[in-house]
Amino acid sequence: MISLTVEAAGSAATLPDMQVNILGSAAGGGFPQWNCACPNCRALRAGNFHGKARTQTQVAVSADSRAWFLLGASPDLRAQIEATPELHPRANESGQGARQSPIAGAVLANADIDHVLGLLLLRELQPLRVYATKSIRRILTKDNSMFAMLQRVPDQVAWIEFLPGAQFPLLDPAGEDSGLRCRALPLGTHFPAYVSPPRRSQLAPLEASLGLIIESPSGSRLAYMPAVPRLDASLLKQLDSCDAVLFDGTFWTAEELICIQGSGQTAYDMGHIPVSSPDGSLVRLAQLSRPRKIYLHINNTNPMLNEAGPEFRQVRDAGWEIAEDGWQFEL
Ligand SMILES: [Zn+2]
Repeated sequence: MISLTVEAAGSAATLPDMQVNILGSAAGGGFPQWNCACPNCRALRAGNFHGKARTQTQVAVSADSRAWFLLGASPDLRAQIEATPELHPRANESGQGARQSPIAGAVLANADIDHVLGLLLLRELQPLRVYATKSIRRILTKDNSMFAMLQRVPDQVAWIEFLPGAQFPLLDPAGEDSGLRCRALPLGTHFPAYVSPPRRSQLAPLEASLGLIIESPSGSRLAYMPAVPRLDASLLKQLDSCDAVLFDGTFWTAEELICIQGSGQTAYDMGHIPVSSPDGSLVRLAQLSRPRKIYLHINNTNPMLNEAGPEFRQVRDAGWEIAEDGWQFEL
């Protein structure tokens, strides 16, 4: 793939771009969520909701439409792959080896269950590269013995550690360069609640929760930021260098879950800046002029899911899109 890039350097039209598939767009639990009877989930089940059901957030990217890289691995991955023909397995040219998935690897942004559980669904001795920080790899492979299923044979899953801030190439399982580059920005310092205190003390907080910037061979950039606890000038600058931003749309207000459940944590406590409010992402990201702005990782309680409601209109009027399962676009 590197040689292709070099040969094509003189003619931009032949450079591969980046394909982006949004397989799932909901926050953990999906929409509707199994134990939730909030107004959104109730209306959706009753068949009178003006909006769409969503599976848990999953994005896949490719530079050549042959090798695909997953950003995270959602618990809904099996159904999401079946719903996406580009990710279906293909037999090779000799008609043999009918278990050839185009999924080349996964890049992990955190160790949350709704972001990594899908890895266990990819355990069928399929060679894969999984990119993660050292801390996230340790949580999964040292403390959670089920993940040993990914390493039953030597050439199954190869774990590749990356450092926050450093750019790294996305290679397929054979080591071939996909042409895509990734850089992870440290965004949050909280590890999942299932991580034990002794283990937590051994981990690097800056490796806990990351945003990913994926760059295509021609320099197009996609930001994948499903969990953003705060926005500063440096992050705004990074986002404004991108062509498309997939941004944390988890909660509409900081107290959203407390209002629904009667108790619990604020959006900020859970590592998510809300969409609305003077400090929310709708206001704070209004200054971004360059990227296409798309909310994803939307919690089932978020009123902007209701396409007949004022919140949906407010977001659309501000120039944002609200991701839906099955969306595809190119950069
Ligand atoms: Zn709900």
